[in-house]
Amino acid sequence: MAAATLATLTALTQAGLVPEADHAALAPVTARYALAVSPDIAALIDPADPKDPIARQFIPQAAELDTLPEERADPIGDHAHSPVEGIVHRYPDRVLLKAVHVCPVYCRFCFRREMVGPGGEGTLSGAALEAAFAYIADHTEIWEVILTGGDPFVLSPRRLADLMRRLAVIEHVKIVRFHTRVPVVEPARIDAALIAALKESDKTVYVALHANHPRELTPQARAALARLAEGGVTLVSQSVLLKGVNDDPEVLAALMRAFVEARVTPYYLHHPDLAPGTSHFRLTIEEGQALVAALRGRISGLCQPTYVLDIPGGHGKAVIAASSVQPDGEGGMLVRDFRGQVHAYPPKGA
Ligand SMILES: *Cc1c(COP(=O)(O)O)cnc(C)c1O
Ligand code: SF4
Repeated sequence: MAAATLATLTALTQAGLVPEADHAALAPVTARYALAVSPDIAALIDPADPKDPIARQFIPQAAELDTLPEERADPIGDHAHSPVEGIVHRYPDRVLLKAVHVCPVYCRFCFRREMVGPGGEGTLSGAALEAAFAYIADHTEIWEVILTGGDPFVLSPRRLADLMRRLAVIEHVKIVRFHTRVPVVEPARIDAALIAALKESDKTVYVALHANHPRELTPQARAALARLAEGGVTLVSQSVLLKGVNDDPEVLAALMRAFVEARVTPYYLHHPDLAPGTSHFRLTIEEGQALVAALRGRISGLCQPTYVLDIPGGHGKAVIAASSVQPDGEGGMLVRDFRGQVHAYPPKGA
């Protein structure tokens, strides 16, 4: 029998993950932000380690009550680009379709923390979903539909199959992408029925896996990813750079290698968004650039994510890795190698 998700402070205490004495300080946090820790994730946490990087991502902290003036409820500006409920259309050729606003776990740094969870925006009604499909069908420039949320893989295979059949008949949509944490946080959900549902249309299916620490890539998670890969799904990664979780070149290198070993191509490393009560997770862009530069020399080119910032206000993503080229002031360029040495291009006196 599957164990239950831990969704209250009492359940976390019974599992040995939160001392009883912390309840008073944490009750206002859980009153404000959704809480869920899946059994697979609970089993990964080392309760003896006060700095456990898995616990840090999922166990509430009193620091979440500190909201800074620059933090915002809608940090990446979803609402500014939502033509109909459930759709975010920021870039011409692709839309987000947020069919569901619940997740199997709630990340304490979530950029949509004011929208997801039992108190969030809920699941799209039948009528809203109809309107969302009508919008996609009417906009022939939409080449890709990105199911995000919430976590779309919490939907039953029956509902996923229905979504895929609805998208199958929209000729101009070629790619269906799912943003999910399920293969890591609830790997048993990636079963034959879910994979069959994804094959209900002949669209190309991508899964962007969200994981932030190499320990998340357990044998069970790797097996779930293998089932997806063997089911014809192309896998890419998304991680958030988080202080106290993965702000270390060794940890980031191990994470990227774990992805590649599991056939997941590193895609994005996100600078943390200005979500409310998340300042304890944020580092500076300079610190992020140094970490990303350290990866370049350390590990395979297959293991290099693109470091991005979602510009607050809905202006989209920008690549923020430090540039390795600059003009030399004489019409040529200076190029920095992976050791930090600078070379002229074209070479002088060659
Ligand atoms: C991040 C995002 C996408 C996807 O962007 P890619 O660069 O294609 O991964 C699409 N729409 C919105 C609104 C987004 O925030
Ligand atoms: S899985 Fe994604 S949407 Fe859900 S809480 Fe985590 S970051 Fe937010």
